[in-house]
Amino acid sequence: MASIRELHNQLVKKERSAVEVTQAALDRIQAVEPKLHSFLHVTAAQALQQAAQVDAQIAAGEKIGLLTGIPIGVKDNICTKGIPTTCASRILENFVPPYAATVSQKLLDAGAVMVGKTNLDEFAMGGSTETSAFQLTTNPWDISRVPGGSSGGSAAAVAAEECMVSLGSDTGGSIRQPASFCGIVGMKPTYGLVSRYGLVAFASSLDQIGPFARSVEDSAILLGVIAGYDPKDSTSLKVEVPDYTQFLTPSLKGKKVGVIKETFGDGLDPDVEKTVQQAIQQLQALGAEIQEISCPRFRYGIAAYYIIAPSEASANLARYDGVKYGKRVEAAETLMEMYTRTRAEGFGSEVKRRIMIGTYVLSAGYYDAYYLKAQKVRTLIKQDFEAAFAQVDVLVCPTAPTPAFKAGDKSADPLSMYLIDLMTIPVNLAGLPAMSVPCGFSREGLPIGLQIIGNVLREDQIFQVAYAYEQATDWHTRSPQI
Ligand code: GLN
Repeated sequence: MASIRELHNQLVKKERSAVEVTQAALDRIQAVEPKLHSFLHVTAAQALQQAAQVDAQIAAGEKIGLLTGIPIGVKDNICTKGIPTTCASRILENFVPPYAATVSQKLLDAGAVMVGKTNLDEFAMGGSTETSAFQLTTNPWDISRVPGGSSGGSAAAVAAEECMVSLGSDTGGSIRQPASFCGIVGMKPTYGLVSRYGLVAFASSLDQIGPFARSVEDSAILLGVIAGYDPKDSTSLKVEVPDYTQFLTPSLKGKKVGVIKETFGDGLDPDVEKTVQQAIQQLQALGAEIQEISCPRFRYGIAAYYIIAPSEASANLARYDGVKYGKRVEAAETLMEMYTRTRAEGFGSEVKRRIMIGTYVLSAGYYDAYYLKAQKVRTLIKQDFEAAFAQVDVLVCPTAPTPAFKAGDKSADPLSMYLIDLMTIPVNLAGLPAMSVPCGFSREGLPIGLQIIGNVLREDQIFQVAYAYEQATDWHTRSPQI
């Protein structure tokens, strides 16, 4: 599979049919899934039917969009009408949404061919896809390692060419970190740019849907399709969506790039440090002006996030009570017993941990000391970014402190798992857009990502910097052997 544009040209010139393209993706899925386990459901029949419709459109001489006939994977916390949406949780094991998320509908309208729903950490809580109640997704570069998380299935599927692009969700890093671990491009848009209607809520003030792709251009094309105002999401921004591909230019002359000082040093893997420093030199060679920037409150991001996100999660997950959705235990004697046993059996331990932390920090007597304080810290982090963006166009830093780790390495120690999101979480707390682009490999051959952060609604700046960097390097052309 090449790029969206190349595939589009082949379809338009009738060199390949959409059915052939879809079948190739389904064959690839069948070949690698026994090792990868990135999909929870493969929607082969629907995909082939959709592809046949695309071929009929082309045969009738209709003009098709860039995404028409392109195979795509969708994270399984995004509602797809008539197709299971489980959030990788037992509690939603048999849930089939009666409606489509706005992004799912937009993909359908654009003629994209969904080949399946991808694995994730349960309710998107985790950084390795290991908290999925159903299966362990592996990293296509080394199957003894995790793909990252929580959108690990979406990232692995694109990296292993099971689909061209995919959608993930990012609450604290869940698109950028797995993109970094799997060697692809992952973007979290500005909070409110993409509708969250039909995204199963984890932490509503942080959640954002975004694209995974193997190139910056593919990412720009997909974002252009899913972004835009939606009256069904009250936090949706009323803004015009530009054609993001117009920002893909090769020069960075005069572009001001800030390097976040606090993200280097202690705890940073030496291969990551070296690779990211080389990437910064490359940006300079392309004409960017590099400047060191201090974000002193950045490091309090994790502490604030692990109060705010669980608080919102504890409220959002109250709806799974055995009455309204999904699983209900049989043979409970009382209503209370039905509630408690349904939730005890339906949720995994990480989800329970978050609900307990959230409930605790929101309770009377603790609210001010924890929740209110965390919100104040959130404001301070935002102020650090505001000061930075008064000086520079974009900020850069590593996406994650290490490359992909071995499965099982961190699952017994939640704190060490939480620390991987050190560099991605502050971005969510401030509602900013950011992208991870491949910037090299560790000595062990594992991909490393460069994070590019933009100011509110300045996706254009991110695309410009990422594209210029990508065109000057060949990291994105390498594929894992699986
Ligand atoms: N790893 C973080 C968490 O566990 C972020 C998850 C996400 O972005 N969905 O909460």
